Amino acid sequence: MMIVMAPRATAADVGRVMSRLDATEGVHAKVVPGAGGVSVAAVGDPAAVRRLELDKLPGVDAVAELERPYKLASAELVQGPSTFDIAGRRVGPDTFCLIAGPCSVESREQTLRVAAAVAPQASMLRGGAFKPRTSPFAFRGLGLAALDILAEARDRTGLPIVTELTDMRHAEAVAAVADVIQIGARSMQNYPLLTVAGSLGKPVVLKRGLSSTLDELLMAADYVLKEATEQVVLCERGIRTFDTALRFTLDLGAVPWLKLHTHLPVIVDPSHAAGDRRLVEALACAAAAAGADVVLVEVHDDPTSARCDAAQQLHVRDFSAFADRVLAHAALAGRALARPLRDRPPLHPVSSAA
Ligand code: PEP
Ligand code: MN
Repeated sequence: MMIVMAPRATAADVGRVMSRLDATEGVHAKVVPGAGGVSVAAVGDPAAVRRLELDKLPGVDAVAELERPYKLASAELVQGPSTFDIAGRRVGPDTFCLIAGPCSVESREQTLRVAAAVAPQASMLRGGAFKPRTSPFAFRGLGLAALDILAEARDRTGLPIVTELTDMRHAEAVAAVADVIQIGARSMQNYPLLTVAGSLGKPVVLKRGLSSTLDELLMAADYVLKEATEQVVLCERGIRTFDTALRFTLDLGAVPWLKLHTHLPVIVDPSHAAGDRRLVEALACAAAAAGADVVLVEVHDDPTSARCDAAQQLHVRDFSAFADRVLAHAALAGRALARPLRDRPPLHPVSSAA
């Protein structure tokens, strides 16, 4: 259920609604700020909420059903797209962000080289410290040592850090360095991990599971939103279909569908979908033109010898031209590159691109 507060509602009015809901067993209540005013989401037991007759309380405009299976992520609850300030970058309908960096942090030199190369056009730096690998014998990341390297890369470039949390035992260490916590595709339905990620007070990038429906993605987002964070960004990274020509099938239809059904920003990751660097740019441009808020791309200084995802990582020397072309496609969708955090080299002009 959604309790829509009147524009003139006071904090005391909201508090009264919240205390009734908090005292109701089986109901989770959360104040949701929106462009048109405050609402209160009351999820769990609609009959119990109805019995409270909250519409009779001062400051309450209406009590409405939330029909869809996902609640806090739903566009029914928060109308219009959310805009988040993530580590000084605006992520939302007017801007466009590129998150770029290696699949894994493999060494200090590699990470600093890639960070410096992407810094002029990227809005954030990605890099895995803890890698979820299909085989337990594959390279699983440098762990804590990688977090120190990422922190140094941020100090040198000003780029906020996006890195994956795979295990709740690493939560504190990852949160101490990450500006944005990534939940990988394989962890999308690890509900205890989602709960921990949501409680760290950091923005969360939530990747769509390999075989997850969009409803399931949004219900997973609800797990994160139920905790302290408001800032969840969804990531389409390709799904399993009958076709094995590409590593995964990029579901570009997910972008406009998510724009209709959720207020949360949307990332597209063409790297993991394609599994082949030659295909990444076309998918990235299509995603930007289709209205993605962010493109997340893997970039390496020596991709063919990368310890993880070697076939799909772009070479650093190709990144600048790649970024120009993707930004030109984002401009078609009316977006400008999210403003840098602090002084950085000048941007390549979007107008010179394809
Ligand atoms: C990654 O971003 O490096 C990664 C492992 O992605 P995914 O969880 O989408 O496979
Ligand atoms: Mn990867």
